[in-house]
Amino acid sequence: MHRSGRVYLVGAGPGDPDLITARGLELLRACDVLLYDRLVARELLEEAPQAERIFVGKNPGEEHSRQLVADALMIERAKAGAMVVRLKGGDPFVFGRGGEELELLAEARVSFEVVPGVTSAIAAASYAGIPVTHRGVAASFAVLTANDEAQGSIAWDQMATGPDTLVLMMGVRSLRRVAARLIDKGRDPQTPAAVVEWGTLPRQRVVTGTLDKIAALAAEADIKSPATTYVGDVVNLRESIAWYESRPLHGLRVVVTRARHQAAAFGEILAEAGAEVIYLPTIDITDPASFTDIDLAVKKLAEGLYAWVVFTSANGVEKFFERVNECGYDARAFSRTKVAAVGRVTAGLLEDRGIRPDFVPESFTAESLAENMDRGVGRVLLPRVESGPAEILDLLKNAGWTPEECITYANVLGSPSHPGVERVRGGSFDVVTFASASAVQAFVELVGEAGDLGLGSGSERGLFNVACIGPQTAAAATEAGFRVDIVASEHTGGGLRDALIAHFSSASEEVVESGNDTDRTDESVAEVARHDDGRMGP
Ligand code: SAH
Repeated sequence: MHRSGRVYLVGAGPGDPDLITARGLELLRACDVLLYDRLVARELLEEAPQAERIFVGKNPGEEHSRQLVADALMIERAKAGAMVVRLKGGDPFVFGRGGEELELLAEARVSFEVVPGVTSAIAAASYAGIPVTHRGVAASFAVLTANDEAQGSIAWDQMATGPDTLVLMMGVRSLRRVAARLIDKGRDPQTPAAVVEWGTLPRQRVVTGTLDKIAALAAEADIKSPATTYVGDVVNLRESIAWYESRPLHGLRVVVTRARHQAAAFGEILAEAGAEVIYLPTIDITDPASFTDIDLAVKKLAEGLYAWVVFTSANGVEKFFERVNECGYDARAFSRTKVAAVGRVTAGLLEDRGIRPDFVPESFTAESLAENMDRGVGRVLLPRVESGPAEILDLLKNAGWTPEECITYANVLGSPSHPGVERVRGGSFDVVTFASASAVQAFVELVGEAGDLGLGSGSERGLFNVACIGPQTAAAATEAGFRVDIVASEHTGGGLRDALIAHFSSASEEVVESGNDTDRTDESVAEVARHDDGRMGP
């Protein structure tokens, strides 16, 4: 059956992937083909695993040819009947060539729809604590390009003196010329100005100063594209309302070494506190060689042959339930059996599936379990990872139970080609976090030895840090040669975040000095700029 294709021109938002519109996200999840630009967040691409995803962004020097490729692909795929999303940074019509692409589609008689996006022109300012308008300070703003090619078409006389707030996009390198021109045409050289680099993202940096000095300050701080410059008195408001950079872990680059599916929740906790999260899944999980054992255990469970079933991990719950469903059962399979869960996360997953565990050990060690369960006779089912620790089996046996292990999944080493591996080898991080001894071992195998990475016991304090979720993980890390600086007192993701906050708020000086590469978010840059403000201020 022929269906007619359509192109959706969608704004991706300024950088923070959460700033895409609800409509944009809905289309992303449903499209057949996704054409995307360079500044589009990777997280958004991951929302469209079903789609053919094609990078049509431009690298310097090939602007023209890439644009032609993008246009041709868009038309070709839509004509073949595909639902095409053309995803562009910010808003498609703000220096995004959106209009030009739609003209072409109209000409080719391809139907289309536009989904506006949050433009970086305003959002980068929002995240820097700069309102583009403010009662009594600015009643107008103008967005213009600072690119050299467009200079001829801008009415500089009016721009310099007309709008209260000026938003200069692109042209980081031509900033000096643009600032000079604005001053020449009548703008006060002492007008407050700010450059926001990578706005709305954890690596956001802000340099503030006055119009006459802002280009030099930005160059000194090595500000690069993408960056947007704001000129106007509203920049002063940043002093009191900068909120994004004041989050406790802002600018800290934290490596999360948990297994892929466990990493997201912990990553979100860190990101909410302002950290830049670098995922490095050291462990992946796979299915066991065969499902025969689990399926048999599921059947015995449903028949009421177990007194208890003990889940020691989140994976155990997820994998076991997959088979419960696959075998045609549901939560009622547990109706004659008591359920124990080690850890709140494991318990939460059971609750999501309609089972409130009878027993959730307070202490997060598997060993405490046997002590807390009634002594008894009978079988205890233990769905868990291949070659899990033997202690728990012994403890159950000593308490009179007959434990029956059932392998629901196996751990394998993470992929060596994951971008996180290269990132850590290159030293672009501040802290590595470990949530289990197995993650420590896998990290060494996948990435390298502690000493070679600057994480060893002999390495300089303050350069890189190692943070562990608890004493057992810390002991494993120390044994593997890591210098462990931070150990969480509550052994959860939230506990680890709190330990990081405590560590870095007491040692913030150290953190600022630890930057050793260019993409480092560095509050000291903004400090320098503010200091200059002070000297040059009215
Ligand atoms: N359509 C986009 C703009 C594309 S032009 C939008 O509406 O946001 C590219 C310019 O946008 C960059 O040169 C820079 O000036 C600005 N920009 C894009 N992302 C940015 C970000 N995260 N922070 C600051 N400026 C950004």
